[in-house]
Formats: sequence, structure tokens, C-alpha cells
Amino acid sequence: MRQHIDATLGSGNLREAVLLPPGEDLNEWLAVNTVDFYNAISVLYGTLAEYCVDAQCPAMCAGPKYEYRWADGAAIKKPIRCSAPRYVEYLFEWVEKQVDDPKLFPQGATGVGAFPPGFQDAVKKIFTRLFRVYAHVYHSHFARVVDLGAEAHLNTLFKHFVYFTNAFSLVKREELAPLGELVDGILGVARPTAARNEEGAGRGEGESA
Ligand SMILES: [Zn+2]
Repeated sequence: MRQHIDATLGSGNLREAVLLPPGEDLNEWLAVNTVDFYNAISVLYGTLAEYCVDAQCPAMCAGPKYEYRWADGAAIKKPIRCSAPRYVEYLFEWVEKQVDDPKLFPQGATGVGAFPPGFQDAVKKIFTRLFRVYAHVYHSHFARVVDLGAEAHLNTLFKHFVYFTNAFSLVKREELAPLGELVDGILGVARPTAARNEEGAGRGEGESA
């Protein structure tokens, strides 16, 4: 996995592409990108959907140390264990419901007061959960992605995702742990070798919402 990733993660101008363009409204920029990133990961996951099935992925795992349980805080308050495809289905439905809510994601709105006070928190939650789809795909379906010739596409999407979420502090460091090494490689963060193997060790990852 590492070699394929290194081979396809060249240097690009994505790091600058994610920054707020001069004169643009931050919330509008976040809103547009939330929808774009959601669409991108949903199309990518769609190409893998026939391989990510209950029998193959009975739990929403990201490697042996992390398993996500679904809760949306509304209809499902207590996190439930479910298969990866079911989890992703819940997750995508949940994202769609929010981006389609004109009170949360007002269409064509701009300026102060156009977005509700909780908007940025909602965006953070969406990106935090979308990350889990990448984490699952990298840990459980990377070989299939390679077979499909899609690893360069996946890596570019993820790199873009990491730059964007890092630029606006959208996903907490500990949430990125299942792909910590990859994230650090993308951001060019040097980490002591000793700390690398210990990160996340022994932690069962539940729903953090
Ligand atoms: Zn799967």
C-alpha cells in the first residue's frame, strides 16, 4: 500500500487550491467544498460498493484497531454496530439530509448572518465522518482500488481532503489516527519513529459524536 501511495502522491498545487480565495466568504467556501467532497467520496465509494458487502465487511473497520459504530444523535442516539455498507449508507443519507437543509446550507446565501451559528460545527462533523469512508477504503479495499486502476484517483482525492481539512482545522488529530502515517506524509509532518507504532494502540474507536 505504502509504495503505491508514494508513487501516486506527487507534489501538486492542491495545498494552495484549498485556501480561501481572496474576497470570498469563509462559510460559503466551506459549504461549496462540503458538497464537493461529499460527492467525490460518494462516487468513489460507489465504484467499490459491489465489493463492500455485509459478508465481506461485517463491521465498519479501519484496520484492526478501529471500528466505527453509527449514531446520528437524532434517530439513532445510541451507537449501533453495523456492517460497513450499512454504516456508509447511514452516513451518506445523514450528510445529504444536512446539505439539503436550506436552514443549514442556504442556497446562494452570502455574508454575515446567512449561515446559522452552528454551521461550522456541522461542517466539522460532516468532514470527520467522511474521513471514516476513506479510512475504511484504504484499510479494507485498497487492493481492489489498485485492481480497478483507481489508486491515483483515490490518493489525489484523499490528499485534497487532507489539505482542505487541515487548512480549516475541520478534523481532530485523534480522528485521523487510522490513517495517521499517510496524513503525516501528505502534510510533510515528521514524527519520531518510536511514537508512530504506539499511536492509537489499544483504543477501540466508537462513535465520537
Ligand atoms: Zn468494506
